[in-house]
This record gives sequence, structure tokens and C-alpha cells, in this order.
Amino acid sequence: MITGKNYIGVETSAKNSRTYSTFNPKLNKPTEWVFHEASQEEVNAAVEKAAIAFETYGKFPDAKKAEFLKAIASEIEALGDELISVYVQESGLPEGRAKGERGRTMGQLRAFATLLEEGSWVEATIDTAQPNREPLPKADIRKMLLPIGPIAVFGASNFPLAFSTAGGDTASALAAGCPVIVKSHPMHAGTGELVASAIAKAAKKTGMPDGVFSNLNSRDSEVGQLLTLHPKVKGVGFTGSTNGGMALYRLASQRKEPIPVFAEMGSINPVVVLPSALEQKGAEWAAQYAGSIVLGAGQFCTNPGLILGIKGQALDGFIVDLGKEIEKLEPTCMLHPNIYEGYEKGKKELSSQPKTAEVAAFKGETAPNFGEQKILTVAAQDFLDNPVLHKEVFGPFSIVVQCQDKAQLITVIQHLEGQLTGTILGTETEIKKSPEVVNALINRVGRIIFNGVPTGVEVCPSMMHGGPFPSTTDSRFTSVGTSAIRRWVRPVSFQSWPEEILPDALKNNNPLDIMRLVNGEHTKKQL
Ligand code: NAP
Repeated sequence: MITGKNYIGVETSAKNSRTYSTFNPKLNKPTEWVFHEASQEEVNAAVEKAAIAFETYGKFPDAKKAEFLKAIASEIEALGDELISVYVQESGLPEGRAKGERGRTMGQLRAFATLLEEGSWVEATIDTAQPNREPLPKADIRKMLLPIGPIAVFGASNFPLAFSTAGGDTASALAAGCPVIVKSHPMHAGTGELVASAIAKAAKKTGMPDGVFSNLNSRDSEVGQLLTLHPKVKGVGFTGSTNGGMALYRLASQRKEPIPVFAEMGSINPVVVLPSALEQKGAEWAAQYAGSIVLGAGQFCTNPGLILGIKGQALDGFIVDLGKEIEKLEPTCMLHPNIYEGYEKGKKELSSQPKTAEVAAFKGETAPNFGEQKILTVAAQDFLDNPVLHKEVFGPFSIVVQCQDKAQLITVIQHLEGQLTGTILGTETEIKKSPEVVNALINRVGRIIFNGVPTGVEVCPSMMHGGPFPSTTDSRFTSVGTSAIRRWVRPVSFQSWPEEILPDALKNNNPLDIMRLVNGEHTKKQL
């Protein structure tokens, strides 16, 4: 049941008279639920509890944390249809998507549990002493990854489950040993509260310290800023707009003790269409790309917002086919009137730029908040000359850029800002003959795709969901997949440390039976 209260650890709390409701974009009216925004006192209480919880939780064996993560997954499942119904009402997304995202969320939690159960993720590294080394003896030095402390997580509007309350940021931080305080996304506070109640239940059942998780409601930026500035918060996870991510990044860097902000802020995901891709499969690619552009009303950070091709008959044919395919598709409901308005504004701004031409746009009647797709085209030089055309339009929108030749195509890629993904369509033979195109694209992106679409981010250890600035604030880290845990840890060396008081991961007899790097050799052997 939704109460509208905050979770300060396992306690619920509603001390603030400032309230707000979520919004049903399909019905175009507010939902029935009323949420109490967290007061400053409640923000402080959540962080204080998290800091105390960190003293024990940060040292818990991996097996115990794994038990907690698995219990969260089971409690989310136990929320049953209520969670799906609230998700659908607050997001306008269909039930199938809600169920798929719930499965993904539980899968992520269980994947981190498996990582912890295996244990080698701590990167235990041991260099034993060399007392007789000349001219100076060498000390025994052992290193491993340890959690950094309480983390503030800002859930994403476009993934109310998989990138929100118990999403990838929360799961990875809890796996690392960091307590989490979620700043609930105002657009899906009810979904967030239900998931928070599942986490609180799981925490109680598995004997976690109170404060290992809190969920704070907020209807504007204040709660998030208080959290980011709190001296006991040691890191921030964020998915959303460039403005929001950069505001938090700046705030965190100006603190007395600056802290890392891992912000994933969007991307236009360039797709390079080589001539060979269009020779036999132009119509097929056009249909596939129309589907990818309108998928989920285009509300994915991996949405293909930019298609780059080389001028000619084949590209002309592809543009015509893409236009026809895009006009056939029915628009769907966007997440919220604000997202819809943002989309309409962005679409209008880019469409009104000089020297752009409309390829196709949905022209039929739609209900309020439905995102109507649109495709533009522009010559490469005009694209290069106009930074407005490089902006992300969050929704079912894309621009086809027509380059004179391969050299100009490379210039365009080199002038793009950092991106989450880049895709190349073409035959293997042509791609082999175009190493400069591939290299230019690799330099701009975190994930490079061959003959596919960028939408659909697999959750697995090899996934990189991150990229050069401004797609994220730190291109060295991913927010999807088990490597996401690395954002919340720091390496610590133990020098000449007595065996009995070393962490288990670094003890001579390797009691955790994990893979370690011992004197340069990867091994599970005891010393
Ligand atoms: P957002 O406006 O960036 O908000 C994300 C979260 O950050 C919210 O909880 C928001 O809280 C908080 N926040 C934003 N600015 C803040 C600030 N200056 N100080 C403190 N907290 C701040 O993103 P959104 O609501 O998810 O969607 C808005 C737009 O973001 C979309 O239209 C789209 O352009 C973009 N977006 C991008 C992605 C992506 O994957 N890259 C995903 C989703 C959205 P409050 O709302 O309470 O202020």
C-alpha cells in the first residue's frame, strides 16, 4: 500500500507538510497518491543512519550482502500486481514493459549477488616481503577494493525500476558495501515507495543494520542538493539530463571534501551507414531503425538520434524508406507532460534550424502526451556549422546527416561530443577497408555496435554503458553490468600488516577461495 511517506532506514516518516502527487500521463491527470517531501531533518536523519550502518555493513562478508540482494529481488517479486499497476499509472508505459523491467531489476540484483558469492571482484593483490632484497628490503604489501561510504542515488525517470530505487546504481553500491540513500524520482514516487518497502523488508529479514537503505521523496531539486552536500555522503549515482547531472557534479566538486558524481546524461548515439549496408539491405535497415527510433516513445539514452551516411542514390533511397516506415508507426505515451513538453520544444528548435529538411513526421491525431515521431535531414557541412543540431532531443526523433564522402564522414564523427554508443552498418569487407571511420567512432563512444541497433542494453559483465563526456562524467566506468560496482570502491594497500588482522581476502590461506594476483601470478593457491 502506498502511504506517501519517506523511508528513513526501516522507519517510515512524514514530517514535512510540503506534499505532491505523481501524474498519470495516459489519463492526463494526477494520481490519487499524496507524497510528503523529505524535510532537511529527515535528509540528515537518513544520512546519519547510513553513516552508522556503514561501520558494520561496509565490513560484512560478501555472502551476507549477497543474501540481502537476493532477498530484495524476492521481496520485489512479492509486491506482485500492485507494483506493475502503480508503475503503469505513473509512467504511461505498457504492462509488458513494466514486467520486463521488473525482471531485469531482479536479474541485476541476483547478478550482483553471484558476483559477491564468487568473491574475486575485490581484486586482491599480494606482493610478499623480500627481507633480503638489496639495496633495500621490500615490505609485504597487499591491496584490495573497499567501499567508499554512503551513496546518494538519483533514479531515472525513464526506468522507474531498473535504473531507480533498487536499480543498477543501488544494487552495485549495496554490493560494494555502501549504504544507499535514494532521492526518489518525483515522476514515479509511488513505484519508488513500493520498492523501498521491499528493500526495508529484505533488510529486516536478513539482519542488515538500520540505515543501509533509505528512500526520500522530493518534488524539486532541494532534497537532492542537501544530500549531495552532506559531508557524510561519499558518492553520487545519477541518470537524467545534462543540466541535472552537471548541477550535481559542480555541487559535489565545490564541497569541502569533493566526492565523485557518476552521472549518465544522455547521448545522440550516432549510426554510420556505409554504402555497402544499403546495397542489399537498405529497406530492411530503414524498417529496423524506424522501430528503434520510436521504441518506448524514444525515451532511451541509447535512442539513435543521428544517422550519418554518404550522399548518393542508395542513401536517398534509405531516407525515403525510413520516412515511409516511421509514418506507419503509432506514437505512444510519454512518461510525463514535462517530458512531452521537453520533447516538443527540442523537436521544434531543431526543426526550425536553417538548411534542415523534414523527411517525415507522424501527422495523425494523438492523445495528450503521446510523442509524435519526426525525422530531419541536413547536409554534413550545415550540421558541422550548427551546434544546435548536435543536441539530444529526448523522444522519437532523429536526423540523417548527408556527407559528401568518407573524409567528411570522419570529420563529422570527430566533431561529435562523447556518446554512449556508436553503430556501424556495412559489410565486413567495407568496414575492414574503413579503419579511420572505426577509429574515429571508437574515440567518441563507450560501446560500438556492428550491424545492429543501439537500443537494448544487455546486463552482463562485459557491458559498457558509459562514454566520454558529456555522455557521462567519467568515461572509465559503466552504470550497467557487474563492473558498475567499481564506482563505489577504492583500492587500499595493507603494508606489513599482521596476518591475523588482514581482511580475509588478503590472508595467506585464502579462506574465501578467490582468484588473487600473488607475486604477479593469478592464482587461488594459498601462500
Ligand atoms: P532530470 O531533470 O535530470 O532529473 C533527474 C533527477 O535529478 C531528478 O530526481 C531530479 O530531481 C534531479 N535533479 C535534476 N536537476 C537537479 C539539480 N539541479 N539539483 C538537484 N537535483 C536535480 O531528468 P528527468 O526528470 O529524468 O528527465 C528530464 C530530461 O532528462 C528528459 O527530458 C531528458 O532530456 C533527460 N533524460 C535523459 C536520460 C538519459 O538516459 N540520458 C534519462 C532520462 C532523462 P527533481 O526533478 O526533483 O528536481
